[in-house]
Amino acid sequence: MPDTSLAPAQRLLTGWGRADATRGLVWTPRRGEEIAELLANLESAAVIPRGLGRSYGDAAQSAGGTIVDTTLLDHVGCVDANGEVEVSAGTSLDTLVRRMLPQGWFLPVTPGTRQVTVGGAIAADVHGKNHHADGSFARHVTAMTVATPTGVHRVAPTRDPDLFWATAGGMGLTGIVTSARLRMLAVSTDRMLVDTDRFADLDAVMTAMEEGDARYRYSVAWVDCSGKAGRTRPGGGLGPGAGRAVLTRGDHASLDDVPAPQLRRAAVAAARVPRPHLRVPRHVPGGLLNRLSIAAFNETWFRRAPTHRTQELQSMWKFFHPLDGVAEWNRLYGPLGFLQYQFAVPPGRGDVVHTAIQTLSSHRIPAFLAVLKRFGPSSPGPLSFPMPGWTLALDVPIGPDGVGRCLDRLDEVVAEAGGRVYLAKDSRLRPDVVPIMYPRLEELRAVRRRVDPRGILRSDLARRLDLC
Ligand SMILES: Cc1cc2nc3c(=O)[nH]c(=O)nc-3n(C[C@H](O)[C@H](O)[C@H](O)COP(=O)(O)OP(=O)(O)OC[C@H]3O[C@@H](n4cnc5c(N)ncnc54)[C@H](O)[C@@H]3O)c2cc1C
Repeated sequence: MPDTSLAPAQRLLTGWGRADATRGLVWTPRRGEEIAELLANLESAAVIPRGLGRSYGDAAQSAGGTIVDTTLLDHVGCVDANGEVEVSAGTSLDTLVRRMLPQGWFLPVTPGTRQVTVGGAIAADVHGKNHHADGSFARHVTAMTVATPTGVHRVAPTRDPDLFWATAGGMGLTGIVTSARLRMLAVSTDRMLVDTDRFADLDAVMTAMEEGDARYRYSVAWVDCSGKAGRTRPGGGLGPGAGRAVLTRGDHASLDDVPAPQLRRAAVAAARVPRPHLRVPRHVPGGLLNRLSIAAFNETWFRRAPTHRTQELQSMWKFFHPLDGVAEWNRLYGPLGFLQYQFAVPPGRGDVVHTAIQTLSSHRIPAFLAVLKRFGPSSPGPLSFPMPGWTLALDVPIGPDGVGRCLDRLDEVVAEAGGRVYLAKDSRLRPDVVPIMYPRLEELRAVRRRVDPRGILRSDLARRLDLC
């Protein structure tokens, strides 16, 4: 392959939700230095980096502007004795795991898919099922190189911390990360030791999660938002089935946890990271995932889960990335696409989780399995999403009547509770609630004034929400 960048091309882009497409000039450099040159000399009005386009909305596109596709920057350096490795920012977490796991290193934080880039993971300061124990992705970045319109900066938590933390969670608006040094997690097998519990109601699962914070490194509950009857009880509480949940918690299995016959295959030296085994066809009729099919799926999924099972050995891939087995599953929502609604609320405001599930259920809005997690302390980034407490994420098809109004109302409830909506998942928030949810926005703007005085780093998300 020639060592030159791909020719820039106009392309129509969307996020993972496949809605709100806009056109821009996509430029795909092979070297970080080319990005610095571009930013210094750019004539177009706006530029924004893009990784693998796994943010759900319009964060990685810029109508009429330049989009820097970073995915050819995929160099992985040698890991040192402390488990630190320098990686180019377009490297996917999938590639990183394939290189590092056979040497005994895993991601310190992983989102629900490996198909995101290191740059995208930093820009959204992504979290995993271990936020309550290990914090967000940027906590494990010891240094990074950020190309900005005023120059290239090597930053760290102690070296220009303002730029470091504004970039972690800054959604590409402070510069383009070209490489980062990550502190990896030592593991000895590719298995997890998992406890699974089924709960008939939301209160019970939330109590169990709170109590388990100190005992489990990873914890996640899949909550049924549809409910058997798809309605709430008259007068308030959740209706039958709505709010029931399956909680899975666990940690990495050591060599001692794996029985002898499986040991050779489970040891990291033999680790095989699976490829997707199914692909959703290009043209899927609209409405395949609708209220009835989603409720039926949730019912089956709940019944198949064990009531109580402990110390089950599971593969990492089933535990962390079950959706990665099906390539382009986002097409299942049909031509209109879908959105993900994810919010976080402080510890004492678990009632908002109830309200969200109750509101969706009573409006009969089909929400595919909702995911409930615990969050620990925030990272210092002014736009970083996680805050101590709860986070709920749910996928909703675009189309059913009343979705917009219902989510607008939920935004107000979340904001009033001192919570926030996740920008990496957003495609529909109103700009007026953003400063309430993200009261430190001005800190991001101050950093931007220093590194991007012309204000050229701009995405559709930034324009829609008046972020800068
Ligand atoms: C199935 C699925 C599961 C997910 N699970 C989780 C989860 O559990 N936890 C979680 O936190 N998130 C989760 N996400 C969201 C995802 O991790 C984030 O949206 C992440 O930012 C996507 O990375 P990307 O490489 O695709 O970036 P893109 O979507 O291409 O871009 C995202 C943002 O990062 C910026 N950006 C990209 N590259 C750079 C760079 N080099 N320098 C600076 N900025 C850059 C872009 O401008 C944009 O603002 C999930 C997404 C999917 C599709």
